[in-house]
Amino acid sequence: MTDQSIKPAFNLSRFSCPNCGELADQAWFNTYANPITSPAGVPLRIAGTDLERLSRNPQFTPEVREQKVAYWNRVNAGQVFLDRWAPIQSDLFVAGMELSACHNCLQAAIWLGGEMIYPARS
Ligand SMILES: [Zn+2]
Repeated sequence: MTDQSIKPAFNLSRFSCPNCGELADQAWFNTYANPITSPAGVPLRIAGTDLERLSRNPQFTPEVREQKVAYWNRVNAGQVFLDRWAPIQSDLFVAGMELSACHNCLQAAIWLGGEMIYPARS
């Protein structure tokens, strides 16, 4: 952490990042909901033997496999981050929930009712 420190707050666009600790500009995002359409109707997670299988899947180049495994390792570790995915269109606005994302580390914080709930303050 640098000498300067600004506590994260809902009304600031620059504060000490709760993820990387750097004093950095923060981008704010509204959140929208997109129904999960996986066959099981529940959120998708790839872990354990399925992730090992993915890491050897010859359908993907070694570089793509590495990216996919790195992605699932972050998700499985409980990280919340912004990632490019297929474009969606949704009119289901998630009222009362916003994200802030750090310009330094690109990781996200989740805010409910104006209070940061992720990452958890230690
Ligand atoms: Zn950061």
